Amino acid sequence: MNIIFLGPPGAGKGTQSKRLEERYGLVQISTGDMLRAEVARGSDVGNQAKSLMDSGRLVPDELIIAMLKSRIEQPDCAKGFILDGFPRTTGQAEALDTMLTADKKKIDVVLFLDVDEDILADRISGRFTCAKCGATYNEVSNPPKQEGVCDACGSHEFKRRADDKRETVVERLKEYRKLTAPILPFYEKTGRLHKINGMLSTAEVTAQIEAVMAGQ
Ligand code: ADP
Ligand code: ADP
Ligand code: ZN
Repeated sequence: MNIIFLGPPGAGKGTQSKRLEERYGLVQISTGDMLRAEVARGSDVGNQAKSLMDSGRLVPDELIIAMLKSRIEQPDCAKGFILDGFPRTTGQAEALDTMLTADKKKIDVVLFLDVDEDILADRISGRFTCAKCGATYNEVSNPPKQEGVCDACGSHEFKRRADDKRETVVERLKEYRKLTAPILPFYEKTGRLHKINGMLSTAEVTAQIEAVMAGQ
């Protein structure tokens, strides 16, 4: 089973992908996480992406498509994958279809997390993650059970993303509206798009996703 998560920045794609990954034994592929790892390593790809990411702009299609292609060719993806943050442009959606068809694979389900824009800025500015295991938290909606301690791994170290500032969020939402929202009809017309109300609690969002998965 291969799945795509669509939705604006802060919609809960990462949070829900992690849950789906554990429950269904799929591999989560977050292009944002991959790019942040490249930036941290100081690779060529990272150097090309850094200033665009910091300003809330998308990185060029060629770069991201090549990175994604080599990732889904890895053996661990054969059991099925969850794309979190890809595709983000019509060019990426078309390139994905072409590479999957060549491999005799397909996307089975597209989950669109629908969240009103006025909620997103607060979600993003309150977001932080465990520095050790990557678990995602939120100051308001989803703090660790014990303050300062990661629920998943017990670490005391947390980090915030450089682009999770209010000024940058405005730019990221503009990019989403202009480049990413237009790909929804691409999946809708093939009947694969499932709209999920992403404004409910994390557990309620998971329940809606599980209902869609049960129908597959
Ligand atoms: P995305 O991957 O779509 O950018 P995240 O999964 O990182 O989004 O979630 C963004 C922020 O919102 C995080 O701080 C997360 O803890 C919080 N969050 C995720 N889902 C919900 C929800 N259903 N209700 C409230 N807060 C949520
Ligand atoms: P979020 O869903 O919270 O906006 P991501 O971690 O998915 O954040 O992405 C962070 C940044 O990485 C984006 O603002 C963009 O600069 C870059 N990025 C990630 N995925 C893609 C993609 N598929 N195409 C272009 N740029 C991307
Ligand atoms: Zn942790």
